[in-house]
Amino acid sequence: MSPRKVPPRADALVVIAHPDDAEFAFGGTIAKLAREGKKVWYVLATSGDKGTSDRTLAPWELAARREVEQRNAAAALGAKGCIFLGYPDGFLEDTADLRGKLVRVIRTLQPDILITWDGYARRFNHRDHRTIGVSVLDAAFPLARDHLAYPEHLLEEGLETHKVGEAWLVGADEPDYYVDIGDYFHQRSQAIACHVSQVGDRDPAAFEERMRERSREMGAKVGMDYAESFRRISFRR
Ligand SMILES: [Zn+2]
Repeated sequence: MSPRKVPPRADALVVIAHPDDAEFAFGGTIAKLAREGKKVWYVLATSGDKGTSDRTLAPWELAARREVEQRNAAAALGAKGCIFLGYPDGFLEDTADLRGKLVRVIRTLQPDILITWDGYARRFNHRDHRTIGVSVLDAAFPLARDHLAYPEHLLEEGLETHKVGEAWLVGADEPDYYVDIGDYFHQRSQAIACHVSQVGDRDPAAFEERMRERSREMGAKVGMDYAESFRRISFRR
């Protein structure tokens, strides 16, 4: 009899809608967490199968390409791995099915920190970003915590319930948590460059300068050279 397989654990779980969301929005933060020895995993609701202007490319070809790009980008930041849920790009819905899949990942990887989109921000954001942001908070609290929610996870798969500690929400109207990414700026740029299907035709120097400016603006609010910002909420009580 083979020994029972012990599932991996995550310190931080990045939950996003599309390949490249995380690198653009908070790639420096992921690099920093990984450098500090934290195990970071990604969950991607979609594989970004609509993200092209190339009319010769089929959605499944694009999805396959973007999954490879995303794995490369995550590895460039020091993350442990990516889980793709395979929902269609642009059509993500806040359903019990999506929440159940997110609950299963949370119970499997048992993260302390969730990093995701702020689904409650007033400013406009991509529909899939809004949806994943709302769904994963509901999955974390209270669903993943309560054994009577999705009871088949415990009964059929032996997955224990889990309490997530906190969530960092990106794209917030009023960020209250800033991460200094000065030492990780270059690593973030390298990770973004892995998304060849999305950034392959951009002028790298001009693009880097735009990214630098954005991080400078965020950092200036709190006396950092370069920063990424979040709204931080705690589930600890
Ligand atoms: Zn996106």
